[in-house]
Amino acid sequence: MTSTKEYKDLEKKYYMQVVNRMAPVLVSGKGTVVTDNDGNDYLDFTAGWAVLNLGHSHDSVTEAIKDQAGKILQMSNLYYTTPQLSLAKTIVDNSDVDRVFFCNSGAEANEGAAKLARKWGKMQLNGAFEIITTLNSFHGRTQAMMAATGQPHYQDNWRPLMPGFVNVEYNNLQQIKDAYNDNTCAVLIEPVQGEGGVNVPDSDYLRSVQEFCKSKNILFMLDEVQTGMGRLGTLFGYQRFQGVEPDVMTLAKALGSGAPLGAFCSKEFCSVLEPGDHGSTFGGNALTTSAGAAAAEFMVKNNIPNMALESGKYMFEKLSELMKKFNFITEVRGMGLLIGLEMNKDLSGEIVGKALEKGLLINAVRPNMIRFMPPLNVSKDEIDQAVKVIDEILEESK
Ligand SMILES: *Cc1c(COP(=O)(O)O)cnc(C)c1O
Repeated sequence: MTSTKEYKDLEKKYYMQVVNRMAPVLVSGKGTVVTDNDGNDYLDFTAGWAVLNLGHSHDSVTEAIKDQAGKILQMSNLYYTTPQLSLAKTIVDNSDVDRVFFCNSGAEANEGAAKLARKWGKMQLNGAFEIITTLNSFHGRTQAMMAATGQPHYQDNWRPLMPGFVNVEYNNLQQIKDAYNDNTCAVLIEPVQGEGGVNVPDSDYLRSVQEFCKSKNILFMLDEVQTGMGRLGTLFGYQRFQGVEPDVMTLAKALGSGAPLGAFCSKEFCSVLEPGDHGSTFGGNALTTSAGAAAAEFMVKNNIPNMALESGKYMFEKLSELMKKFNFITEVRGMGLLIGLEMNKDLSGEIVGKALEKGLLINAVRPNMIRFMPPLNVSKDEIDQAVKVIDEILEESK
């Protein structure tokens, strides 16, 4: 058996050093628990980065992948294949969009949405091409999505940025109105900002942006890559906000339940892409969409988003109780099972390290904020365990 040290040496020698990895070498997982190469268990409150909304190795997903792997993995999009159609139907039946295109990641989904928006601009708005996005957003790491992502850290080393994106303050309608001009073709925002620090907008923000977009005939596009597939307590995050219906919506992360799968979806009126306009060799791949179709069907049948709503409330209350005990916690915020705990000191790195030692995986989304995004079917007992670990650690850093 290869030892943990040997694996780490291999990584140092052969892998691009683009991330500071956490200590364990993880080899298996079931539900909320992952196991490392030395047999230690951890409670996973990162869920593969908000990907494993049904937990690790969920039976429905594992069975679908096994079954599909024995039938057909891949054909080009020139031919009909079946799992993608089943998943597209589940998305459309349970949302306000009409058409779906599958790709392989969140960045690629947003790229597709941006292409759709530019074509909309060509056809409807005299060639308008500019897309308004927000500061502290995250839309991916491709050339265009670095320009869309309003954070210096993702932009500064790669200038010049691709033109055609303007970043304005989140939760600020006036700044969108001010940035709007004859070149604007769309607005792209997250229903709740994830990587930007779990920022929940005012309840009427999304709807008022949508109304503004409608009044100017520009597209209202929601990046649901992190918030989609139940995370906020409804199948799609926007469904938690009254009167909100995106023209375009992008998905990835939890869509494939661990298989690399993204999608951009649009209403019929703005489905302007035609044969030859867009494509993807692996997009809609039979294997990844079989995982996605099984996961989505299971989620809808068993109302998993509602579990996120209930457990989210429970965890939110538990974490809020810690505020009474530790005065350096400044805010607990979030929606469903996307929750951040903010402090007035930069303790995240230290907390994440200590949590790991106590068998809990969490994320330091900001230097002063930790983020929780467990599987949506996490148990109350597991939430209690996680909060207890945080409580102990904060007690030590008091
Ligand atoms: C993670 C994320 C992306 C990028 O997804 P990748 O699959 O890493 O390309 C885009 N938008 C949001 C909101 C995300 O959270």
